[in-house]
Parts: sequence; structure tokens; C-alpha cells
Amino acid sequence: QTDDSRAAQIPRYVRVNRNCWTTEKAVETFASRGYELADPLSSYKAFAKDEHIPDLLAFHPQVQFAEDALYKEGKIILQDKASCFPAHVLAPPADEGCHVIDATAAPGNKTSHLSALMGNKGRLYAFERDRKRFSTLKMMLAKARCKNVEAVNADFLTTSPTDERYSKVTHILLDPSCSGSGIVNRMDHLLESDTQEDEGQDRLAKLAAFQLMMIRHAMKFPSVKRIVYSTCSIHAIENERVVRQALETPEATDGHFALAPLADVLPTWRRRGLVEEMNSPDDAQSLVRCSPDGDATNGFFVCLFVTKHDGGGGAA
Ligand code: SAM
Repeated sequence: QTDDSRAAQIPRYVRVNRNCWTTEKAVETFASRGYELADPLSSYKAFAKDEHIPDLLAFHPQVQFAEDALYKEGKIILQDKASCFPAHVLAPPADEGCHVIDATAAPGNKTSHLSALMGNKGRLYAFERDRKRFSTLKMMLAKARCKNVEAVNADFLTTSPTDERYSKVTHILLDPSCSGSGIVNRMDHLLESDTQEDEGQDRLAKLAAFQLMMIRHAMKFPSVKRIVYSTCSIHAIENERVVRQALETPEATDGHFALAPLADVLPTWRRRGLVEEMNSPDDAQSLVRCSPDGDATNGFFVCLFVTKHDGGGGAA
């Protein structure tokens, strides 16, 4: 299958931005425009509520919203279903006292999703090291009416985990640079410009080393209890192998990090991690994979690390 024919099977996903709108109002609005609740692949006027992600709607792949007033006003966000998994799985509570880091934030779709899940409360530090992408991030966060986000134009790896500002951070989202090999439908436009077709082993090994460094760094934050690691790659070297290595590092063993049980990581999602790449079938079951061949999403990978004494307890 070509990327185009796979993309034709992926609905146009629209996340309703809970910071300024509700799914009920969105459904009413689309119904008043003549859309009907039905299989989104069945017609241009069909749409559906997603079964895994609250506030996510699916439309026919050919429907465009980039020029729609709802998009321009920030009421809807164009975000692939799989790319909604990381914030959903991290599941920060909507509490004034909740402190969260998004370590690799631009263009900001997962940041605004986190902000909405937090009820626009508490504090969300959004790191982005690239200056130009940082400007885009600020623009996207303003459009999505995020009031609880402090955007930081800095390299997460050079940020001290013992900095007093981050002493209460309990949740970290890590969606670092990757090969982008899972992307067949560029609906999360503004992908990184260095996402290339070249998937030489050297490049993948360098990306994997960087991804592992990011996880180890996140594990050093003194109050962190939950870390989501995600990529839009289909390669085990950037996914299961990075996770397996991370679990063996002193940061993981000293910090008592383990993989969250299946029950805390989208238990009704069928496609899980690759068993042959993990130390046990249970470890593979804890991981989420998405494939453009059969899941109606781009290729994606999600993992949730929790501290053993935290006991999980996030969203299903
Ligand atoms: N999470 C974003 C979203 O959903 O909109 C996409 C993130 S993109 C895959 C990775 C981003 O991390 C890029 O913008 C890149 O510039 C940034 N980045 C990479 N390494 C970083 C680092 N060490 N510190 C901060 N940002 C970094």
C-alpha cells in the first residue's frame, strides 16, 4: 500500500478544545451544518465520536477544516487520534496543585491537550529548544486559550531537575524528535523539518541514544511519578528497545520506575508492543502501538513509566 492509499483510510480527526468549547456543543454545531452521526468513511457528511479518546471526533478523510472558523478560533484542534494518546495516558488531574512538564512541546498539540485535561489549572511547563518552533508553540497555545502553560525556550536536557521551580512536577510528557517513520498522513502539520525519508541505521541509532537520554533525564526530577514516552516511529530501535534500555538504567532502578500495567494504558486498544523485543509478555502488553495498516491512525508508539509506589491509577 502507498502512503496515499493508507492516508485515505484515516479519518480527519478533530479534537474539541475543552479550554473553550464542549463536545456537546460541537456535535450540535456539526449537526446544524448537516453532518450525521455515522461511520466517518461512509460519506462526506458523516462523523463519529471516538471510542478511545473523549472529545475526539472523526470525519471523512476528504473533509477539510484548515480554513474553518472553528479551527481559526481554537475551538477545534486538528490532531491525529494516535497523537492524542500520550496526554490521555499521562492523565494529569485537573487540580490547582498539579505541576506537569511537556519536555518537547512544539508545535503544541499535546501541550494544549494536557492543558485541557488539567482543566486549564495548575502549572504546565512547555519546553522547546528551537527558537522558530518556540514562536509557533506560543502562537498555538494562545489560539488554544491555554492559561496554565508557561512556555520555556530551553533545552530540556540542560534543565536542572533540582531547580526549585520544578520541585513539584509529578507528570512528564516526552514526545522527542524521532524518525517520523509512522507518518502517512501529515495532518499534524508543522512536523519537524528534520523528519527525513533517510532511515539509515546510523541516524536511527543516534535518535535512539538521544531518546534514551531524555527518558533518563526525566526520571531525575524529584517528585515525578508518571512519565509518558511517545514517538511517531514504527521502528523497534526507537520504541521497545529504548524502553527496555531505560528500565535497566540506574535512574529507573533507583527511582523505582516500572511500566504501568495494561489496565492503565488504553486497555481496550488491541495493538500492543512487540513481544520479541521485551523481557516479558506483560511488558509488551503495557505498551501501545498504532499502525497505519489497520488502526485508522498514523504509526505511533506510547509507553507509560510509573514509580512503583505510585500504583498507577490514571485514565484507561
Ligand atoms: N509534542 C509535539 C506536538 O504534539 O505538537 C511534537 C513534538 S516534536 C516530535 C519534538 C519537538 O521537540 C521538536 O519541536 C524539537 O525541536 C523539540 N526538541 C528536541 N529536543 C529537545 C530538547 N532537548 N529540549 C527541548 N525541546 C526539544
